Amino acid sequence: MIDDSVRQERRLVTTIPGPASQALLARRQGAVARGIGVMLPVFVTKAGGGVLVDADGNSLIDFGAGIAVVNVGNSAPEVVDAVQRQVGEFTHTCFMVTPYEGYVAVCEQLNRLTPGDYEKRSALFNSGAEAVENAVKIARSCTHRQAVVVLDHGYHGRTNLTLALTAKNMPYKHGFGPFAPEIYRVPTSYPYRDPAGMTGAEAAERAITLIDKQVGADNVACIVAEPIQGEGGFVVPAPSFLSGLADYSRASGIVFVADEIQTGFGRTGAMFACSHEGVVPDLITTAKGIAGGLPLAAVTGRAEIMDAPHVGGLGGTYGGNPVACAAALGAIRTLERDDLAGRAEAMGSVLLGRLTELAEKFPVIGDVRGRGAMVAVELVSDRQAQTPAPEITQAVAKHCHANGLVVLTCGTYGNVLRLLPPLVMPEHLLDEGLGILEEAFAAL
Ligand SMILES: *Cc1c(COP(=O)(O)O)cnc(C)c1O
Repeated sequence: MIDDSVRQERRLVTTIPGPASQALLARRQGAVARGIGVMLPVFVTKAGGGVLVDADGNSLIDFGAGIAVVNVGNSAPEVVDAVQRQVGEFTHTCFMVTPYEGYVAVCEQLNRLTPGDYEKRSALFNSGAEAVENAVKIARSCTHRQAVVVLDHGYHGRTNLTLALTAKNMPYKHGFGPFAPEIYRVPTSYPYRDPAGMTGAEAAERAITLIDKQVGADNVACIVAEPIQGEGGFVVPAPSFLSGLADYSRASGIVFVADEIQTGFGRTGAMFACSHEGVVPDLITTAKGIAGGLPLAAVTGRAEIMDAPHVGGLGGTYGGNPVACAAALGAIRTLERDDLAGRAEAMGSVLLGRLTELAEKFPVIGDVRGRGAMVAVELVSDRQAQTPAPEITQAVAKHCHANGLVVLTCGTYGNVLRLLPPLVMPEHLLDEGLGILEEAFAAL
């Protein structure tokens, strides 16, 4: 399941970044807009399994998976085969002009794999943001209502509508307004920072009261929620929060949209994170892990909601591109055949176990949380006051990078280190990566 031409080892032959990467970085600076940030400027030449190989020949352990995209690993053999076959047949027709089977097959797979045993339909797009935008279009078309409710710390993309849905100003929204109207943000469930003892049901009630009093349920087309918040800090809501919102939505004629763009495709130890709580959304948005690294996204859900927009009302030139669809079918086959959700669950116990041990040693770790292979630590300069420690978080990440471990940060306060290894990462690399993380904390 891993391309054997990429040796599964950490190997540093230069400082990070090495001279070849530095030369490319200088070229990049003269050619690429600075608004496109870079976290770790090693230029990749090959990747597979649990490692990235750079232009200097360094091999880095990958705890990022391209932001939860290559769940099946980079260049997973079944993805490569499917793409190579498809790219030799035809590369594009536009599904809305002359259709092809791959698109239909991906929709069938999504309808089968997503939670809910009702009749479903799917529509394919290119990016997560585009999927979320289309979920909102579909919900508005179906309900004839306008308001959209989202959660504190939520992240849904960088287009104008999805920026309005996204909570965090820097770096996402700053200076890019005005944003789309009729978006309302309510508190989420954030067990680490909520009042002590607040249950998920109470957090749901807090949100619902605001919706009722400030928006009015009858005006709400949809509630869009991540089952575990990604960019917002890997916030796992308390049990019964999501189901509370879903039940309220059902009772109020509101479309409940689960944004599973980061949590989907085995990442959390189940194919979709909603199912850990038995929550059945009306619509589900997917992207990232769907196609082994090729750009593809989808909205899947109840047939009567999905079919609300008029014929021709949904689409896009590239949505459901045949090469991306072939990749998705290869990725889904790999996920199921190799039980990568099960593998994510096993990785989760290793990750949470080791991080909990680190939290006992290092008081800067205020919280350890996550599910499956979507795990994070929240760093604080004062455990009692829970003061966010973004600078220390950056320092830990930098130490990891310098030692050949790719880790990402996130969180509204910039103080969360998140671990998202490819689900095919060999155990020895997972262990070694965690060892580097421990050294990074020890070096503070
Ligand atoms: C990444 C992400 C998006 C946006 O996806 P893009 O493909 O970057 O547009 C939306 N929602 C969630 C939860 C995400 O993690």
